[in-house]
Amino acid sequence: MGKDDVVNLALRRSLFFPSAEIYSSAPSGFWDFGPFGHRIRRKIVDFWRKEFVEKEGFLEISGAQILPRDVFKASGHLDNFNDPVVRCRKCQSVFRADQLISEATSAVVPESISTPEFDALIKKHKLRCPSCKAIDFDETKKFNMMMKLDIGATGKQEAYLRPETCQSIFLAFDRLYKTMRQQLPLGIAQSGASFRNEISPRNTLLRERELGQMEIEVFFNPLKENEVEKWESVKDYKLRLLRLKEKNVKEYSCMESVDKKIVSSRLVAYLLCRTQQFYAKLGVPLPLMRFRELEQEARAFYAKETWDFEVETSLGWVELAACNHRSDYDLKSHSAVSKHDHQIKDLETGKEFFPNVFEISAGLDRSLFVLLDVSLKKEKRGPEERIFLSLNPSIAPYVAGVFPLVNKDGLNEKAREVFGLLKDEDFDVFFDDKGSIGKRYARGDEIGVFGGITVDYDSMKDGTVTFRFRDSMAQERVKIADLPVFLKKAVKDYFSTPMRK
Ligand SMILES: [Zn+2]
Repeated sequence: MGKDDVVNLALRRSLFFPSAEIYSSAPSGFWDFGPFGHRIRRKIVDFWRKEFVEKEGFLEISGAQILPRDVFKASGHLDNFNDPVVRCRKCQSVFRADQLISEATSAVVPESISTPEFDALIKKHKLRCPSCKAIDFDETKKFNMMMKLDIGATGKQEAYLRPETCQSIFLAFDRLYKTMRQQLPLGIAQSGASFRNEISPRNTLLRERELGQMEIEVFFNPLKENEVEKWESVKDYKLRLLRLKEKNVKEYSCMESVDKKIVSSRLVAYLLCRTQQFYAKLGVPLPLMRFRELEQEARAFYAKETWDFEVETSLGWVELAACNHRSDYDLKSHSAVSKHDHQIKDLETGKEFFPNVFEISAGLDRSLFVLLDVSLKKEKRGPEERIFLSLNPSIAPYVAGVFPLVNKDGLNEKAREVFGLLKDEDFDVFFDDKGSIGKRYARGDEIGVFGGITVDYDSMKDGTVTFRFRDSMAQERVKIADLPVFLKKAVKDYFSTPMRK
């Protein structure tokens, strides 16, 4: 299945669609999520919270989306959060210089090279404007990607929509460390919207101007980076790593990756392991994933070690999470600009120090897009072709649909009873009595509903229903009273397939 299949499905079933689409003036890069898409998206966050944040004992906060200028002076975003842009002098179109060059030459151009280097490359390859074909570009300039706001009526309170959710975590570190009576290592998480003024938003949810993020910042004592409490549980787990200057992914156990100095510490190996496990459990097949090591020029300006977690999709490799060693960059610079000291005391040595940070910054909308991409399946069944979304039941919009076979002889009422019973037991189910039973199954399959429960004439006699599985289409007869236990087990069994371990 290709990228267009995902977008077609999304638009056909309103999983996501362009924001303000009825206006031709609507800027690109903003997306709305319809009822099914929103359910899947919300459940991805819930899954991250349950499987990652809470299992690790991390704290989760919800910070403001608008932050004052000083925050971004300290964070470095005002000076460094730039894209190189170049303007065509003839038609005034604006392009990202790195994309312009890499698309024309199919070479990978790091976005962090200097503006004269971009100009030299544009000249060397005699690049034409993609819009008007002229060879007449201005000099490359740095364009700051933050969205600026004025707070209040004076016009003197400069602020920005946050370009990443993690800044409020750094700002609150000292407060949370003290008031929540925490020790290092301490993980603090946040999910929510961030905003980036992308020059050319593209590939729907993969490059947006408003993007959902799920970020985790783990604060630790740099002298104790190799003291990992749960090390025994991960040391033999195999990370899929693509190292610098290597062509292929190789598997290294966490232990090996530390011993061979491929990653900088046990803490880094542990958090990479948990990231890989999270996405495997979420439903990405292991052979499609890798951590790609970034060389210095390609890293974010604050990172001393970066592994991009990537998944192979119909669009090629897509980055879902940046795993960054941010050292003491954030707490140190916020302490310097705000004059609020974020150092803490090492109880053993009595010395004050800035905690270091390892970050797992995951894109929510990217994760959603990629999960749709790897789950969307087409299958020939005789003359018919069926499309289904093989989603993990934990993030499926519904675990099951409840269907009366026909709308007469009390079947509808019986089916409503079954629906009520499952709702009372907290299952995510929906009721559908419109169209043929085959069409109802197909509609559910297409949006990833895990199973179908059909009430038929036998149900009226013996109190059983048919449960039909989405992926295999296998059917099983189940007593209505046993449905809650049956459903729970079916969902649990899904997780024990070997791909997810
Ligand atoms: Zn032009």
